[in-house]
Amino acid sequence: MCIIIAVANNKGGVLKTTTVTNLAGVASQHGQRVLIVDCDNQSNVSLSFNLNPDSFENTLYDILVDQVDPRYVIEHVTDNIDILPSNDSLSMLEFEVLTNLNQYPRPFYLLRNMIKDVVNDYDVILLDSPPNLGLVSGNILSFADLVLIPFQPETFSMRSLIKMLSAIDDFKKAHNPKLDVLGVVGTLVNNRTNLHTNILQQCRKFLDHKRIKMFDTIIPRSIRFASSVGFEGLPATLVKENKNNDIVNAYINLYNEIKEVVNV
Ligand code: ATP
Ligand code: MG
Repeated sequence: MCIIIAVANNKGGVLKTTTVTNLAGVASQHGQRVLIVDCDNQSNVSLSFNLNPDSFENTLYDILVDQVDPRYVIEHVTDNIDILPSNDSLSMLEFEVLTNLNQYPRPFYLLRNMIKDVVNDYDVILLDSPPNLGLVSGNILSFADLVLIPFQPETFSMRSLIKMLSAIDDFKKAHNPKLDVLGVVGTLVNNRTNLHTNILQQCRKFLDHKRIKMFDTIIPRSIRFASSVGFEGLPATLVKENKNNDIVNAYINLYNEIKEVVNV
């Protein structure tokens, strides 16, 4: 059975996209058929696979607004990985839908209704999210089974994590009873700073109390890794030369921890 995992956080730049694409890389190497749905108008999923987001005839926007069949939009990018791309047009979704509610009476269910027919073609669907909680995120939370939250330990991060958890809770009650938090993963961590260590400890304690999983794996900050991302045209976990790279290993460890909780 396919499992639908959203990687989401209303904060920007916390490694949502990098986590989606690299977990997809690891899962694909384990023989899992993966679909990545890019739900962000920044198109960073396409860019991670070296595709030009402006070259697609149709994107997620056309599926949601004009009911284009997702099978015509999905692109096969590498062994076991397909992507459903987005581009700038997705930024018009909110305006289009909210000004035509008679045409879209259930605006949070557009993604779920349109993608449901392809769900069984995959073992895992990973949803990359935008850095805000608008209509697109509402559609993501109505469709996902699980949410993985990347957490960058900075001074105000706990506050936005609490907001995110409460939004997920609200969505679960109102729109998607099967929705659960898969867990929280520390990202962009510099273990040499006391600030990061302290905030991660504080976060772990808070989540333990709420019975939410905090993964043991953390994704370290690495400037070298960041600068190599754009050049390879593939997620780092799929680049042969990256064997034994600390960050690639971190994504493998994260995948193994996820596997202990769900069948991916
Ligand atoms: P947005 O909210 O804009 O969608 P995001 O949460 O998806 O951002 P990413 O795009 O995954 O975040 O990552 C933000 C930036 O950090 C990117 O430029 C990426 O290349 C870089 N990056 C990825 N991994 C690391 C790392 N381990 N250390 C430092 N920088 C990284
Ligand atoms: Mg992103």
